Amino acid sequence: MTNATESSAEPPALDGALLLPGDDGFDAACTGYQRAVSHRPGRVVAARSAGDVRAAVTYAAGHGLAVSARVGGHGPTTSLDGGVLVDLRGLTGVDVDPARRTARIDGGATWQHVLDAASPHGLAPLSGSSPHVGAVPYTLGGGIGLLGRRYGYAADHVRALEVVTADGVLRRVTASAKDEPERELFWALRGGGAGGCIVTAMELDLVEVSEVHGGSLYVDVAEAGDVLDRWRRWTEEVPDTVTSGVAMLVFPDVPGVPEELRGRHIAQLQLCVAEAGDADHVDRLRELVPAVRDTVRTRAFAESGAIFDEPDRPHAYRSRTAMLRALDPGALVRLPATVGPAAPVMCVAGLRHLGGAFARSPRVASAVGHREAAYLMSVLSPVAPTSEATDEEAATLHADVLAPFAPDTLGAHLSFAFGRQAGADVRSAFTPATADRLLRLRQRIDPGDTIPANHPLPPR
Ligand SMILES: Cc1cc2nc3c(=O)[nH]c(=O)nc-3n(C[C@H](O)[C@H](O)[C@H](O)COP(=O)(O)OP(=O)(O)OC[C@H]3O[C@@H](n4cnc5c(N)ncnc54)[C@H](O)[C@@H]3O)c2cc1C
Repeated sequence: MTNATESSAEPPALDGALLLPGDDGFDAACTGYQRAVSHRPGRVVAARSAGDVRAAVTYAAGHGLAVSARVGGHGPTTSLDGGVLVDLRGLTGVDVDPARRTARIDGGATWQHVLDAASPHGLAPLSGSSPHVGAVPYTLGGGIGLLGRRYGYAADHVRALEVVTADGVLRRVTASAKDEPERELFWALRGGGAGGCIVTAMELDLVEVSEVHGGSLYVDVAEAGDVLDRWRRWTEEVPDTVTSGVAMLVFPDVPGVPEELRGRHIAQLQLCVAEAGDADHVDRLRELVPAVRDTVRTRAFAESGAIFDEPDRPHAYRSRTAMLRALDPGALVRLPATVGPAAPVMCVAGLRHLGGAFARSPRVASAVGHREAAYLMSVLSPVAPTSEATDEEAATLHADVLAPFAPDTLGAHLSFAFGRQAGADVRSAFTPATADRLLRLRQRIDPGDTIPANHPLPPR
């Protein structure tokens, strides 16, 4: 193994493979689900071990190159130009310890890998709406999951992280690590986002959930213009076992889309009830909103991807977010008109109900921002080349959509913020003190910016 100061033509022998432009698999490694970002690295390390990640980082640091990792490719904000891309999709091991109710998850495992390994033991991770996103990148951003109001952010359940820092050293960081920078890194990586190191493995708690009552109620907005406010009032009454969200979108009128949704402006109410005894809350919501399609049923949590039923086709998109202390009914009632068929560019307005365990402080402090938020709002648009909309057109609409909610806005939530965000928005995801602390740590552990942050924090 070389160290950061040595230079060699290529990284040393790898368990995985080194891919150069033109090699089989190179292009596929450079593009993920988010098609607005296409990496153009000089080299791809298709990693199969933590040693491969060390070799890639050491090589990049030694040559003054940037290095970035990828799993599902749902969330990158910038293309890597030159440098080394570490493709973690071959590093997907999951070891479940049923007695301790924990899992050790490799840095490239998706939530589906974890769901499949945990479910035979009657256990579940605090995964989110899409089983295809990487468990590690999701958790680095906090992790707003389907069981979140019952158990909190995924980041609150991390016990240890194994990381390769920019100096090429593999470290195990925990709350009780001997070195102060490692304890600080443990704090930062739970909610502070990607940057400064590459996580090769993560150990986290699982919860005892094998089945949930979940799915979506699809409501035609033309039949219930105040559907969002009805959902809001319902969220004020439900217990912490009920986690829900809404996506509002106009479905295209094309074959492949369920007939009852085609061409309609729909509010998709996404529901996950962690305990069977609380399923009657779904019946109450059914009485409040006239659903044209209803997929809510008792299902194995391992199939929880069917709850939101998100598109699995890669596309180009950008979005903005707002963590809200409350949902203003007046702003909510006006929302369907702003994002509906008459919107200048297509968009999907999303709301997630937070509170419950999301709002409770974890045993060990973390960098998760705005715990007090009651709702998360996001607005997302497909952009070129997937649609004709430009980034600027999408950004203008997103600003208009979020403006009425400004009085209740605490700041952004970066996991759902797709595309490069304004520096002020990135900082707004944290308190000024937390943003400064994250920035200080990154400058300390990665002074050469070898592993750039996905959402770079500007100084105050
Ligand atoms: C359809 C969809 C549904 C989603 N649902 C949810 C949800 O329910 N809850 C939620 O909280 N979030 C959700 N997200 C956001 C998602 O968690 C983040 O975008 C996450 O980063 C995507 O994971 P990925 O595997 O695609 O990461 P990638 O896009 O591959 O990587 C994202 C960033 O993390 C870095 N990175 C990747 N792996 C590592 C690693 N091992 N160590 C260090 N850095 C790394 C990359 O370099 C990049 O900067 C969703 C996103 C989409 C598109």
